Amino acid sequence: MNKRGVLTIISGFSGAGKGTLVKELVKKYDYKLSISATTRAPRVGEEHGREYFFLTREEFQSMIEDNRLLEWAEYVGNYYGTPMSYVEEQLALGNHVILEIEIQGALKVKERCPDALLLFVTPPSAKTLEERLVGRGTEDMETINRRLARAVEEADSMKYYDYIIVNDKLELCVEETNAIIESERNRTVRRQDFIQQISEELKVFKEGE
Ligand code: ADP
Ligand code: 5GP
Repeated sequence: MNKRGVLTIISGFSGAGKGTLVKELVKKYDYKLSISATTRAPRVGEEHGREYFFLTREEFQSMIEDNRLLEWAEYVGNYYGTPMSYVEEQLALGNHVILEIEIQGALKVKERCPDALLLFVTPPSAKTLEERLVGRGTEDMETINRRLARAVEEADSMKYYDYIIVNDKLELCVEETNAIIESERNRTVRRQDFIQQISEELKVFKEGE
């Protein structure tokens, strides 16, 4: 029987390297990345349906009303949400699905799907975080400062996550994250079918006693 994939949520400070990490996991290990809906404007180089589904506030609102989002949250003035259908489809096919979402959304998913795996990505230091955000060059200083200020609050929620992933050397970080997710697949609660199967098989020995 096809093993169900692990629903993995990756959160972390803006600029921690979540996007970079996820891209590697998709490329190297064929993880399926859920594409979120958002009301924020596309950044240079971003495409509708690739990075995000870029929606108006009205369109976003109707997705909420039609119950088509697994979760949604407001982040620094914009709405972000996870379309439900893709996630369900891919997990059922046995693929690992990654949601790269912020903390409020992550905690909502955990409530709804208690076996979701919550990973929090952080750089090794606050200084590195600032350097990465500035170095990325995609936001103006005002937005960068708002995101850094938000990181102070976000640190309070790190304790709700299952694992803290320190993104220092990218390659090591990718391997560590993949190892954690793969081990998760073998958690007892996910291997009920196997337990049942081998228990049945073992009965032969008892009959032959
Ligand atoms: P996030 O998605 O968490 O906001 P990004 O993936 O966009 O962060 O990364 C922020 C910046 O840091 C990018 O310019 C990226 O190239 C760089 N970066 C990511 N991971 C590392 C790393 N391990 N070492 C050095 N730079 C990194
Ligand atoms: P950005 O604007 O930098 O792409 O994303 C801002 C924040 O929104 C990031 O922390 C990102 O993880 C989060 N985010 C992206 N998509 C979703 C989503 O579908 N739901 C929630 N709750 N957060 C999201």
